[in-house]
Amino acid sequence: MQAWVIGNWKQNPATNSAVNALLDDLLTKVNTEEQANLQASKNRCKLMVAPSCVHLSTVSTRLAGSSILCAAQDVSTYSASTGAYTGDCSAQQVADAGATWTLLGHSERRQYHKESHECLISKLSHAFSQNLGVVFCIGETQEQYDNGQTLDVINEQLSVIKDLLTQQPDLALSLSENLLIAYEPVWAIGTGKVPTVAEVSETHQYIKQTVASFADTTDTITVLYGGSVNADNANSFASDAMIDGALVGGASLKADSFLAIADAF
Ligand code: PEP
Repeated sequence: MQAWVIGNWKQNPATNSAVNALLDDLLTKVNTEEQANLQASKNRCKLMVAPSCVHLSTVSTRLAGSSILCAAQDVSTYSASTGAYTGDCSAQQVADAGATWTLLGHSERRQYHKESHECLISKLSHAFSQNLGVVFCIGETQEQYDNGQTLDVINEQLSVIKDLLTQQPDLALSLSENLLIAYEPVWAIGTGKVPTVAEVSETHQYIKQTVASFADTTDTITVLYGGSVNADNANSFASDAMIDGALVGGASLKADSFLAIADAF
């Protein structure tokens, strides 16, 4: 299975010039790596970055022609196209700005914007209607982890996809290509704490089985791990067959650490 490493830039960098500096570094290093990989006949994982929506056009324009894809971090729940929704960016708008994918359901959106089950069904539906791929983020809080509720929480969060498929059964056909799941324990995001590889592996296996059970597909869904992945621990996650890549926050803001993580997969 093709591995993915995705950088979630969140509300960073602060300025256009800092975005361009990060892109300069990333593109130079990716090009150098690709030359070396070509000579060594080595395949690299798929790379994608998710800048803030204000930087989407700049980033997608500069990445055009490179092997790095561009994703949005969110889309509006209210309309796939236009409307009176101050502050929102629709799936059509982010696609027009050059995103081919979007993150959805990130724990920071769930926490700060109170994203509900229905809201996420709507966002997924809008994203797919505009031909965006979706990186659907799920994961338990510290308290839920401590109480041994991880798989129950995952099951509940994945039921968004189940309910969407019940409403729109035709979507099942494209699930293996247009949907990635990112398992991100909330307690591991930006904290430096990580679950063991065995724990992640078991959870990923559960996610793959669960999605397969209601998506009516024999294809295996791609499941990425996210939460304090860095250049030092990436190899251990990459060594497990159930872990198909990483969603990276902090370490994606430096080309060196982002590409070191990519090299691990
Ligand atoms: C994230 O927010 O998606 C994330 C994984 O963050 P970090 O890598 O900084 O923990």
